[in-house]
Amino acid sequence: MVEGFRPADLREALEFRSQHPSIPIAGGTDLMVQKARGFALKPDFDKPLLFIGHLPDLQQIIVENRQVHIGAGVLLSDLIKSDKIPAVFKEAISLMASPPSRNIATIGGNICNASPAGDTLPYLYAVDAILVLKSSQAERKIPVGVFITNPGKTDLASDEILTEIIIPDKKFGVSYYRKVGTRKGMSLSKASFTGLADIENSNVTDIRIAFGSVAPTIVRSRKIEASIIRKPVSEIKTAVPEIVKKYAPLIRPIDDARSSAAYRKKVSLRLLEDFLRNLAS
Ligand SMILES: Cc1cc2nc3c(=O)[nH]c(=O)nc-3n(C[C@H](O)[C@H](O)[C@H](O)COP(=O)(O)OP(=O)(O)OC[C@H]3O[C@@H](n4cnc5c(N)ncnc54)[C@H](O)[C@@H]3O)c2cc1C
Repeated sequence: MVEGFRPADLREALEFRSQHPSIPIAGGTDLMVQKARGFALKPDFDKPLLFIGHLPDLQQIIVENRQVHIGAGVLLSDLIKSDKIPAVFKEAISLMASPPSRNIATIGGNICNASPAGDTLPYLYAVDAILVLKSSQAERKIPVGVFITNPGKTDLASDEILTEIIIPDKKFGVSYYRKVGTRKGMSLSKASFTGLADIENSNVTDIRIAFGSVAPTIVRSRKIEASIIRKPVSEIKTAVPEIVKKYAPLIRPIDDARSSAAYRKKVSLRLLEDFLRNLAS
């Protein structure tokens, strides 16, 4: 039998989690698919469910000290509507799933599901998002790239809940997002790409590049980014082949039902090239 607990507030949720092995469930759009057993059969959960999608403590989007604090339970559709969320992040979210799914799926669920194809992740990696994890006893903050350890695996402790995602309240001068899927809606990424940059006095002063769906976790290289920073944009065009060559070994996709590894690699590097050429022009 599947058991569940619907707490009144976050304190009660954390109390329950500290006392019972449990599975947090927000929108359930990942969990219900992963645990489905077939028509008219109950899904196969091995622990009681802890319902958290309704908790007001997880629903806020607040701007404070030049940071945006996003509650883990904020719906994808509410992120798209918010004027506090950067446009390029909204673009990525608006291509996820479908409007009905986005009305129930949460940002916290996308992060904790830890899929290399999770479409909120490239942007969150690119901006060095910090995650707030709470238990009944403590709170800790951890970068998203440290939290996600492997496909489907995170550093979440059995008594913790992801409560908040912190991103900088910053607009990059150049922002670029592409998702490659079978269709515009209702399709998981074959590959995705986020590129962000600032240019001052014709020099690149900041650059962030993140690839989704092409390795066990999101690909980002601070070393390669550092090698581009301070380059005059006029030099970028000629440097494109060299930069693409540096990223190529990091792009290690798999063949699966959605795409072939060869296609994923080719298209990802083409997106990188397109972003860099846009930067140069
Ligand atoms: C038809 C369909 C289309 C989809 N399309 C896309 C797509 O285009 N792009 C994409 O990236 N995803 C897609 N998804 C996957 C899914 O909708 C998203 O990953 C969504 O954001 C998950 O959120 P949720 O609230 O439903 O998560 P849930 O299913 O409730 O939870 C997912 C995981 O996170 C854990 N969890 C949830 N919230 C917390 C929390 N606050 N603290 C700790 N653990 C937590 C759960 O225990 C579970 O392990 C699709 C799914 C479906 C069914």
